[in-house]
Amino acid sequence: MAACEVCGNDYEMSFQVVTVGQSHTFDSFECAIHKLAPVCEHCGCRVIGHGVEADGSFYCCAHCAHAEGANAIVDNAAHATPGSSTPSSTRDVIRERPE
Ligand SMILES: [Zn+2]
Ligand SMILES: [Zn+2]
Repeated sequence: MAACEVCGNDYEMSFQVVTVGQSHTFDSFECAIHKLAPVCEHCGCRVIGHGVEADGSFYCCAHCAHAEGANAIVDNAAHATPGSSTPSSTRDVIRERPE
């Protein structure tokens, strides 16, 4: 058994999430999201899906990235600019994904 590092609940089914070089213990996904999920820098919601990272900032979606000036990001073919390519500083959020 191990205590959740967010709420302190000592639960027999608690689990570990290993991030870059660090192990975290949680009793629920809710607590894991609370501790680890990035926050969208435009609307402030928790990014619990793939999200978008642009120039070191996290966003929940392309709309929010656009609103903060990251215009190269699209998640909808109708918004894509023909001929534009994705700059190397733009990529999916790849974060704490155990294989
Ligand atoms: Zn907890
Ligand atoms: Zn957002």
